[in-house]
Amino acid sequence: MIPQQFEYSAPKTLDEALGLLAEGAKPLAGGMSLIPMMKLRLASPEHLVDLGRIKDLNYIRDQGGELHIGATATHHDVESSPLVRGKCPLLAETAAHIGDVQVRNMGTIGGSVAHADPSADYPAALQALEAKFVLKGAKSERTVSAEDFFIDTFTTALEPGEIVREVIVPVDGDGTGTNYQKVLQPASGFAIVGIAVRTRKSAGKITLVRIGVTGLSNRAFRATASEKALEGKAGSAAEVQAAAALIAQGIEANSDLHASADYRRHLASVYAAKALTAALERIA
Ligand SMILES: Cc1cc2nc3c(=O)[nH]c(=O)nc-3n(C[C@H](O)[C@H](O)[C@H](O)COP(=O)(O)OP(=O)(O)OC[C@H]3O[C@@H](n4cnc5c(N)ncnc54)[C@H](O)[C@@H]3O)c2cc1C
Repeated sequence: MIPQQFEYSAPKTLDEALGLLAEGAKPLAGGMSLIPMMKLRLASPEHLVDLGRIKDLNYIRDQGGELHIGATATHHDVESSPLVRGKCPLLAETAAHIGDVQVRNMGTIGGSVAHADPSADYPAALQALEAKFVLKGAKSERTVSAEDFFIDTFTTALEPGEIVREVIVPVDGDGTGTNYQKVLQPASGFAIVGIAVRTRKSAGKITLVRIGVTGLSNRAFRATASEKALEGKAGSAAEVQAAAALIAQGIEANSDLHASADYRRHLASVYAAKALTAALERIA
């Protein structure tokens, strides 16, 4: 189908874009989710502000022990960046799982998190990484944790007129292992279930474990019951299995034509065990 008519602006500065957004326009990034929604008439914005020409939004920087990633960095930029691969391999690994080459060349990290598809890949990794998002409006700037950002299906902490300006992830030192495991929906590549793990050990005991889950429910979340079950443990196969069995505790699982709620819960525990095992093996 053809979208309804709309006005299109392509500002070169962030201030100009934020001014237009404050008047009610909608941001356009890679268009990989928004344009299909407009063609299906699920969205009919009157005015689109293309963020793609704002140079100040496309960067990946190592700053004070954290990586700062501008909103319009594409999935390919993240997947192929030597900085991300070297300092935050979980994020690069997750980006490589998104859609196909065309989608990764166009889609952006800011667009993906703002869209908040409950089956999107990045949110699982960003939960496990305890990422922060810088949200910018015409007259405001605030930083929100991943845990507080993803509220519900297609619903985030973004206020009208605000954009995701930047994603901040930690640079973990030696002794950290990470992994992303995904069961994909073969037609789109979206996650039926996706599990991201970040873990650290000291003196043979797990001192940190963060598990981000996508695809299972209405929003990406941290599997805190599984995390608590592993803290202080050695991470034996039996301990990993016991923790993975708790992955869906307290969660209402999605059910659709691709997977029933029971099947999703089963996949989540099997793939949580795989991701935990791989992450523990990767601890250097
Ligand atoms: C065939 C296909 C397969 C896909 N497979 C996967 C997959 O396997 N895994 C996966 O995770 N994703 C998948 N996607 C989605 C893809 O990752 C998109 O890139 C992403 O969802 C949206 O990013 P975008 O830059 O294209 O945003 P757009 O489509 O331009 O925008 C999406 C929404 O976010 C808003 N927005 C955009 N940028 C910002 C910003 N900086 N601040 C605030 N709001 C903003 C827009 O107004 C819009 O509401 C797939 C898409 C397609 C078409």
